[in-house]
Amino acid sequence: MAMPNDVTDLALATALPERVVKLEDLDFGLEGVIVLHSTALGPAAGGCRFWHYPDRAGAHRDALRLAAGMSAKNALAGLPLGGGKAVIRVPEGGFDRKALFSAFGRAVEHLGGNYVTAEDVGTGIADMAAVRSQTRHVAGLAAQPGYPGGDPSPHTARGVFEAMKVAVAHRLERPLSDVTVAVQGLGNVGFNLCRLLHDAGARLIVCEPRSDVAARAAALFSAEIARCSSIYEAKADVFAPCALGGILDHQTVTRLSAKIVCGAANNQLADPAVGKVLADRDVLYAPDYLVNAGGIINVAGEYLGWLPSEVDRRIGDIAPRLQALLDRARDENSRTEVIADRMANDIVAAAARRRRAA
Ligand code: NAD
Repeated sequence: MAMPNDVTDLALATALPERVVKLEDLDFGLEGVIVLHSTALGPAAGGCRFWHYPDRAGAHRDALRLAAGMSAKNALAGLPLGGGKAVIRVPEGGFDRKALFSAFGRAVEHLGGNYVTAEDVGTGIADMAAVRSQTRHVAGLAAQPGYPGGDPSPHTARGVFEAMKVAVAHRLERPLSDVTVAVQGLGNVGFNLCRLLHDAGARLIVCEPRSDVAARAAALFSAEIARCSSIYEAKADVFAPCALGGILDHQTVTRLSAKIVCGAANNQLADPAVGKVLADRDVLYAPDYLVNAGGIINVAGEYLGWLPSEVDRRIGDIAPRLQALLDRARDENSRTEVIADRMANDIVAAAARRRRAA
């Protein structure tokens, strides 16, 4: 059986986490888990998800999967950070949100800097401020003038946007002004992405359960509104998942009309075999954890004290990184996500070897 840390011969996604910390401070309604998947490259970094999970096992499963994804994302982005994730179950009934996130902050502090948290689905700047009252190992706080910080979503959107340009040129030999993009989900990232795409001249088809938000996108970006259930069939060149993970499964991929998948949602493939189905259907898949790294790069800049210009430069590296990956996938006649997984695995394994040798 593989030992924690021993990622040398294992795919990152299946490597055991280094440490799993149960969160339980029931006085404050805190119940969940922090997973430190890998600290080979640096402190395990990844946001805190606050979500309704029917049971504890489901929350743990999600945290394990998301933390492994962060190891791969941070490694490929060239960050001096490992991968981790916190998942907290939304308590049944009333609760004091500030007290709950303060209790979470104490748990983060207890890990002595081996885990760095930030926002994720269900958490925001105010929650991270409560965490900050207990620990300095947190980012995603209100930005101070001249420093990185604040909501990471615009940075994520920018990385996805630049990567999409590369994917469209590679697969369709066209500029963004000549394509239609179907955007699934108009939350923090999806809405920002629509703005960038609209400004670049792309046509938009969008879906979003909040009808007022969809209507705003229609008004601002001349976007066509599709039903959430039929966005896969939208007559688009690019499908940009910006809502939930696991949305590309054996059924939805057969409904896709787009020839490119490039979006922000984490863990878009419901299982690895779906990548092969996409390739067999000649759909170019831009691996999510490569293209959506803009937010974590901004978080890293905030935590590690970089200048905004350094954050910008690193987000600017996402598109050339995708280009290199696409070229390599073509040259090796391999799938994009297979190459990306291998690259991330190699980076983490080399760091683990260096650490063992030190
Ligand atoms: P968000 O919660 O702000 O937005 C998600 C949106 O999707 C919401 O508007 C929601 O109403 C909508 N939605 C929910 N179910 C839907 C459905 N079935 N069809 C269409 N829309 C649906 O989240 P976000 O911060 O914009 O992140 C979007 C995705 O990108 C998430 O998967 C997140 O994990 C990932 N991601 C976000 C960042 C970031 O910087 N925020 C970074 C990396 C990855």
